[in-house]
Amino acid sequence: MRQLARLLRTSGKEHSIALINLDLDNFQSINNSLGHEIGNQVLQASGTCLRHLMRPDDWLARVGSDEFILLRPMAMADRGQALQWAEDIRRTLGNTPGMDTGLAVQPSASLGVALAPDHGQDPDTLLRCANTALMEAKQHGKNQLRVYSPEISLQLRERLELELSLARAIDREQLRLIYQPQIDRSGSRIAGAEALLRWRDQSGRTVSPNVFIPLAERTGQIHTIGLWVIEEACRQLHTWHRQGLRLGKLAINISALQLGAEHPSLSELLAGALQSYDLAPENLELEITETALLNDPGRAGEQLRQLADSGFSLAIDDFGTGYSSLAMLHSLPLDKLKIDRFFVDRLGNDDADLAIVKATIVMAKELGLMTLAEGVETREQLRMLQNLGCDQFQGHLLGRPMGADAFGSLLRGTAAA
Ligand code: C2E
Ligand code: MG
Ligand code: MG
Repeated sequence: MRQLARLLRTSGKEHSIALINLDLDNFQSINNSLGHEIGNQVLQASGTCLRHLMRPDDWLARVGSDEFILLRPMAMADRGQALQWAEDIRRTLGNTPGMDTGLAVQPSASLGVALAPDHGQDPDTLLRCANTALMEAKQHGKNQLRVYSPEISLQLRERLELELSLARAIDREQLRLIYQPQIDRSGSRIAGAEALLRWRDQSGRTVSPNVFIPLAERTGQIHTIGLWVIEEACRQLHTWHRQGLRLGKLAINISALQLGAEHPSLSELLAGALQSYDLAPENLELEITETALLNDPGRAGEQLRQLADSGFSLAIDDFGTGYSSLAMLHSLPLDKLKIDRFFVDRLGNDDADLAIVKATIVMAKELGLMTLAEGVETREQLRMLQNLGCDQFQGHLLGRPMGADAFGSLLRGTAAA
């Protein structure tokens, strides 16, 4: 801090200072899994590597366990080169062979860059900016580099606020499930429903699951939220059963991270909920996105087989958007493909998309899978899909997602009809 203050004081109007905040990725897990001896080696190797990249006027300090600060005075006109400097550091660190530890894993670092006087003129402000940039870099995975900008600060704050309020959403009873009917081939009978999650935050704003599910996945909150979804869906299904209302299957969306979880595993959590509400695995369908299977096909396949053996029905969600191979689909115990809304939406306008949907349905039949078309909005789409031999439909034409009471009434109405 003294050195930074001195530099800021003495550098004239023509001078700028670049500050890099560097943090090693996964240092904690290197320490935990390989021991402190190796951890120390990685730190020393990083230090040596950074020192080799220094110029005579640069400053380097280790400010935390695996955190370094680098300072470089530069001519005002050259400060664009700060980014290049940081990029050199990132790349060189990442390529230092095993950091001399003989490790198979290559340690890497995340970097945040701030400039004086552009981003701040006192040590505190400058450090805070570099730290904000570093946090932003970390949000984007490992081995990343970010330069501070005021927008980053704002985005980060919004994200942190969202994260904090999401953490309390369950306690504050701000989550609920709504239900969208799934219609059978005839176009009129309810074959099942999909449970969709809604969050109304404290200001009464409804946050889309497209926003908060990825957020919850990043923070790990998905496990708590996912469990809440499982239990709430089972509780509701139990209520409908007690009212004498039956529906084929209730589908719930499962995140890739839930599928990968151990102790407790997804099957253990599901078994617990089924038992509490007197339900059978056959009552539920689990929707898994194509991308979830691609991340860790081994673990996902193992879990899916276990779930299928227990009697759960398995559907691939958003099919067509994730580039999964047919061979992989065939090797998994799946029951249904849900054709993504993207293709349904373009059915009338685009011959190529028609061909894709047609081929998907044919292929699914060959593999013994049911097909469901998502996002059916027009009669024309429904008719085309029926002609192509699609088994089930879901979309605004056939029913929007609705509250549990409304869905109960709908079930009662069709039961009476
Ligand atoms: P999804 O599973 O593919 O769900 C279908 C989405 O399409 C829903 O959006 C639904 O409201 C919307 N939709 C249905 N019919 C139509 C239509 O005819 N036209 C249009 N334009 N849209 C239609 P929603 O509820 O916003 O959910 C978005 C995504 O969030 C879901 O996509 C799913 O991936 C995720 N999600 C929702 N609930 C959960 C949950 O409980 N757990 C997890 N892990 N993910 C969830
Ligand atoms: Mg879904
Ligand atoms: Mg979908």
